[in-house]
Amino acid sequence: MIQITMPLNFLGSVYREIRQAMVDMGEMFDLLEQPPDVADKKGAKVLNVKSGEVVFDTVSFGYDAERAILKGVSLTVSGGETVAIVGSSGSGKSTIGRLLFRFYDVSGGAIRIDDQDIRDVTQDSLHDAIGVVPQDTVLFNDTIRYNIAYGRDGASEDEIIAVAKAAKIHDFIMGLPEGYDTQVGERGLKLSGGEKQRVGIARTLLKNPPILLLDEATSALDTDTERDIQSELKAMGKGRTVLTIAHRLSTIADADRIVVLEKGEIVEQGTHEALLARAGRYAQLWARQQAEEQAA
Ligand code: ATP
Repeated sequence: MIQITMPLNFLGSVYREIRQAMVDMGEMFDLLEQPPDVADKKGAKVLNVKSGEVVFDTVSFGYDAERAILKGVSLTVSGGETVAIVGSSGSGKSTIGRLLFRFYDVSGGAIRIDDQDIRDVTQDSLHDAIGVVPQDTVLFNDTIRYNIAYGRDGASEDEIIAVAKAAKIHDFIMGLPEGYDTQVGERGLKLSGGEKQRVGIARTLLKNPPILLLDEATSALDTDTERDIQSELKAMGKGRTVLTIAHRLSTIADADRIVVLEKGEIVEQGTHEALLARAGRYAQLWARQQAEEQAA
C-alpha cells in the first residue's frame, strides 16, 4: 500500500506544481505572452526590496533585432508612487511590464529595483516582489478558498477571509451554498468578470508584494463594477509601488504620474491636469476617448 501511495503523492505534488505554473502563465497571458527565455545568473542574489523604487535606465528592447520596440526609455518610479503608462496601441506599454517581470532581458540600458539590476537577482525573488493583476484572472477547478490561498502557500483561514473582505468578495462567497468550499472554474461555479477580478485582487493581497504591476483590467466590466474594482485596486496600491499599464485613460486620471509612450519613447509625463494643460499628445488621446465614450 505504502509503495503505491508514495509515488501517487509524489505525482500529486508534481501535478500541483505544473498546474500552478500553468495558471501563472495563464494569468500573465496579456502581459507576458511567451515562455521565459532568461535564466538566473550564476551566483544571482535574492532581491532586497527597501523602498520599492523601480528605475528604467535608458532601456532599449526589440523582440527581434530588426525592430526596436523601446528606444531609450528612462523612467524612475519612486517607492510608493503610482505611475500609469498610456499611449496608442502597439506603443510598447505591455512590453515595459514584461521587461520588469524579466520575461525578456533588455537589449540596452538596465532595469533596477532599489539599485539592484534585475539581471543580477534570482527570478524567484523578483517574482515574489511583484504582484501582477492581469486583465483576466484564471481560476483553478477547485474551491474558491484554494483559488484565493494560491496567492501564498500556507495562508491561514483568517488571512484568507481578511483578504476576501478587503477585495469585497467575502459576502458574495458567504452567500454561496457551500461558502469557501464552493467549487469554481470551468467545471464549477462560473464567476463573472468582476468576481474573478476580485479573486485576483484577494490573491495578490495575500501575496502582499511591495510592487504591483497592473494590466488595466476592467474593459469587460459594467461601469459600477468597474468603479468598485478601481477603488479596490487603488486601496491595494497604498504603500506599494504601482505601475499600471493603461489601455483606457478614464481609470488612471488620478495616478501620481502619467507617462505617455509613443513608438517606444516617452513623449510626455505629468499629472492628468498638467498634461491636459499642455494640450499635447495626452490631451489629444483624452479628447478622443471622451468623444468615443460619449458616442457609446
Ligand atoms: P496595446 O495597447 O494594444 O496592448 P501595447 O502598447 O501594450 O499595445 P505592446 O504589447 O508592448 O504594445 O507591443 C509593442 C509592439 O511589440 C507591437 O508592435 C507588437 O506587435 C510587438 N510585440 C508584442 N509582443 C511581441 C512578441 N511576443 N513578439 C514580437 N513582437 C511583439
